[in-house]
Amino acid sequence: MDNIIVMKFGGSSVANASAMLNVFNIITSQKCNKLVVLSACKGVTDLLIEAANFSLQNITKSIEIINEISEHHKKIIENTINSELKWKALEKIDVYIRQIREFSEGIHLLQELTAKMMDFFVSFGEKLSTTVFYYILLENKINAVLINSENYIITNSKFGEAEPNYSIIKLKVQNELKPEFDKYDTIIAQGFIGSDLEGRTTTLGRGGSDFSASIYGLALGASEIQIWTDVSGVKSADPRIVEQAITIDEMTIDDIRELSFYGAKVLHPDTIKPAIEAGIPIKVLNTFSPSEQGTIIKENNQGSEPKLHSISVLSEVTKLHFYLDTKRNSSLQIVDILNYLIRRNIKILSSSQSETSFVLFAKLDNQQINNITATYTDYQVEAVEGDLICLVGNNILLDKELLSKLTKQIENYQIDYIQFGINKQLSLLFSKDNTREIIERIHSVIGS
Ligand code: ADP
Ligand code: ASP
Ligand code: MG
Repeated sequence: MDNIIVMKFGGSSVANASAMLNVFNIITSQKCNKLVVLSACKGVTDLLIEAANFSLQNITKSIEIINEISEHHKKIIENTINSELKWKALEKIDVYIRQIREFSEGIHLLQELTAKMMDFFVSFGEKLSTTVFYYILLENKINAVLINSENYIITNSKFGEAEPNYSIIKLKVQNELKPEFDKYDTIIAQGFIGSDLEGRTTTLGRGGSDFSASIYGLALGASEIQIWTDVSGVKSADPRIVEQAITIDEMTIDDIRELSFYGAKVLHPDTIKPAIEAGIPIKVLNTFSPSEQGTIIKENNQGSEPKLHSISVLSEVTKLHFYLDTKRNSSLQIVDILNYLIRRNIKILSSSQSETSFVLFAKLDNQQINNITATYTDYQVEAVEGDLICLVGNNILLDKELLSKLTKQIENYQIDYIQFGINKQLSLLFSKDNTREIIERIHSVIGS
């Protein structure tokens, strides 16, 4: 039972019948014991959130969406299962759908939708996808079991963004889950969901199935965690923005952290760290091109060779420029501004200062900007909206040629802010216009 791997498949990997059959082929080609973590089918979590919200005012619309979700899963069953198992699978889907409908009616009646209720509502996305996939495995005589992650991923009660209780999880997984591998070689589990100490359903935050995979991998002492998605690993840019983006063979956890913080949502940021620290290799692989080697994520053993790896972008970011009062201590003024923002839970994306200026970047709505300018009437405060472009690489400040290539690519653009070499990995640029073009130009430097 030594060699256990965790394989996580995201929403697009289980989107429909043909994607699920790809997943089937991938997992059955690996001969070791595996725990397979699945997301909800692509788009279903969004639909469930929509349905839950509609339950309050427009129950008919909510039921319509729930029916759409039902049809989607039933269609996959119709296309993949022919034996009498089909009826069993359809019946299970009906049971879940009935529960969602009843819950939607409950929300309507109570006229209340709390974060706790929302977590329960959206948990059905993963419950439905894993049920369908489990029956596909049974249909093909795979020795598999379907478990309920609510019984193992024990979290605190921070609904919507619950945090795992690693010690309880480890105990449960070691004592109750691992022995299942004596009977089955494949365990299917829902990503994203868990429960608190009182048994109430929780979720780990959007995109949280990566987190589930990492938690299961850690608790099982897995030899590898595979994150299967719809692209061939972590790329030099979001392939939806830069078509020519190339796969990065190896990345460090800090590179991933910077990339995801600044918009590249290929992996959930904090989620994979515990597994990496435990020395478990994590691979990012493509469900639709499984023979490609993808990206392997490692701890921070950076070589020092300067290199630009990847670009990401965070859109609709506000740059706030405070023109400080030169008669007063600038550090105290900055501390005061930071305190103001922290007390209001405003996440600061980056900042820099001089004796007369303090510049920071944050995601702010108009109301928040107005409140800030109304509070700091002593200063001139300038707010500009744009895109924060993030370059992740290695020691780029050490390579003058690379720096000059980068500067050359952007010399004809109006760039509002540049900070090269914030740390070993990160540089930031802020642009108001032509962001896509700027990204494409900078990307041309990668690998050149
Ligand atoms: P999953 O549903 O499998 O969890 P996600 O949608 O969460 O997949 O993440 C994969 C997506 O991340 C890709 O389809 C891609 O568009 C996007 N993405 C953004 N930046 C990058 C990047 N640098 N490398 C790879 N994918 C990226
Ligand atoms: N289904 C969840 C979401 O859409 C979790 C995940 O896909 O990782 O956020
Ligand atoms: Mg994801």
